[in-house]
Parts: sequence; C-alpha cells; structure tokens
Amino acid sequence: MLLQGFIGKNAKIRIFRSVWLHSVSLLADISEDDDDDSVIFIYDPMPVDDGEVPVTSFAGAVLEGTQATRNAESELYDSGASCHMTPFHHCLINFTHITSCPITAADKRVFHAIGKGDMQVEVPNGNTTTTILLKDVLYAPDMGVTIISISRIASARYAALFCANFCHIFDSKKHHIGHVPVTSNGLYRVDHGEAASSVSLSRQLTLKQLHCHMGHITPEAVWKLVREGRVNGVDLEEGGDFGSCDSCKYAKTTRKPIKKERSAPRAARFGDEIHSDVWGPSPLKSIFHHKYYVSFIDDHTRYSHITLLRKKDETFKSYKHFEAWAATQYNIKIKRLCSD
Ligand SMILES: [Zn+2]
Repeated sequence: MLLQGFIGKNAKIRIFRSVWLHSVSLLADISEDDDDDSVIFIYDPMPVDDGEVPVTSFAGAVLEGTQATRNAESELYDSGASCHMTPFHHCLINFTHITSCPITAADKRVFHAIGKGDMQVEVPNGNTTTTILLKDVLYAPDMGVTIISISRIASARYAALFCANFCHIFDSKKHHIGHVPVTSNGLYRVDHGEAASSVSLSRQLTLKQLHCHMGHITPEAVWKLVREGRVNGVDLEEGGDFGSCDSCKYAKTTRKPIKKERSAPRAARFGDEIHSDVWGPSPLKSIFHHKYYVSFIDDHTRYSHITLLRKKDETFKSYKHFEAWAATQYNIKIKRLCSD
C-alpha cells in the first residue's frame, strides 16, 4: 500500500497504461494533466479494512445473474453497493486472498468474498469506451455479475448522473467519460466480449406461451404488442400454430342455469319415486368407522332416510333394508329408484 500513503485518501490520478501494472514505477510516471492517457485510475479505499460488511442494494437473485450475464461478464452499476465486487477471477490483477468476508444483498442473502484485486473495466462512451481501473475489487465467486459501486466511484471524486436511459459518469473536471445504458428491467448494465453478442438476452417464446404469460389475452393482441415493439426481451417464434388453450376453454365454459323451483310435478304417492345418492369417502371416519352414507329420498313426501356405510359395496344391502322397511311399515312397494 505504498500508493495509499503517498497519494492520500480519495485521490484520483491519471497514469500511463504501460505503467499501471507496475506500481513500483508508478510514482515516477504520474501525469495528472495528460489527456492522452487511456487509463483512468480510480483510487478508493476499501471499507472492508475498517471491519464493515460490504452490502449491495441488489437482491440475491440479481447478483446471482444468469448464464447470459455470466457469459457476457456483465457489470451492474449499483448506487447502494459499498464495494466493487466481481466473480470473474481472470479479470483481477494483483490478486490476493483475504479472509472470507460476507456480502449482504438487499434480500439478506449472503455471498462471500475470498479475495481481492484490481480490475480494469470498459465504460461505454458513445462509439468508443473509456477504460477505468478499479482498485480493491472483492472477488466473490458465487456472484453472476460484476458490481460497480457508485459510492466508491463517487468517493474517488467522480460523479454519476442517473437519467431515464443512461447513467452518465463524469470525472472530477466534469469531463464526460462514459454512459451506462439502462436495460428493460431498469438495471444499469454493461455486457462485454464476444459472448455478449453471441448470447441472445431475449427469450424465444411461442405465441401460445406469450399468450399465457400475458394473462391469456387474445392472440391478435399478442401479435399487435410484439409488432409495435411494446414487449422487450422476447422473440416471438415465427409460424407457431396457436392451437387452443385449455385454460381459456375452462374459463369460458358455461352451464345451463339450475332452476330454483322444480318444474316437473312431484310423484303421486309415497314410493312411486325414490332418489338415491352415495356420498364419500369422508376425510374422517366416524366413531364406528363409517366413511360413506347412502340417502333415499321419497319424491312425494320428501321423506329422507340415511344409512352410514363402512364400504361403498354396502349400498345395495342398505337399499334392501330401506325397501323392506317401506313394505313392512307402510305397505309400500317402491316403483322407481333414481340414482346417478
Ligand atoms: Zn389462454
């Protein structure tokens, strides 16, 4: 930490690209006003040394990234992060191991940093890029993206201006050194390398899948939204046949209304027509282990008779009892038994 003692806290210097890899010769080659220099060195002391636990405002799911963001070695600019962090070991120079240090995400999920180093990143700046060297970047292998801490950048006397479409970054002399685009999901993210161009960050969906994702709107409405560019991050597969949607069919199923009053005349006498139904199995057994019941309802008198059953196949025996009871008690012969 020769540099820390010499330059002091929160200093920013410009140095030659050929020099920054060799800190020993750094002091001799510092050129604060050299505008031709292509590397900007950001010096920002790491708070971990003070015993603080690094935090980030992103949720664990965002920090974990996706295969696409890993392949593209994406960088997220985070105004709530207290440190720079990266999972990309090969991007770090002057790498040293550190005692495992927890990094807490906004959703309290914890990642662990096990090393640190310096890292060179390219900030988009119109048709070109500005190379920035970040100091003391934590190495957290479980993460899926690099986090660039806006507060560490600010502590190095840079300024970040968040607009609707970009995060503009200025140096201490108010020179615009880069702007980071905002993605469709509101993240200020930069993707790098050939992997970024070869990895499609859009998801391929069929018309039917998109119809389901969008709450079962009509296929015509889905097409209209895609055609007018109102859906980001989705590529619609061409020529996909919509077919039919079971959920839509179910939701639109209708039934004939059940009349509140019966329309057909009742049976003329007791026993002329008996309605029967079996119910069960019950989730709970009765004290005597019954799980079903069978009902016999007389259409003329609405007299109702219920028998509890242990098994469903006791139904016929129950009917024979009911039939015998009607015959012995009322001298009635059952003429018609209705059951579904
Ligand atoms: Zn549907």
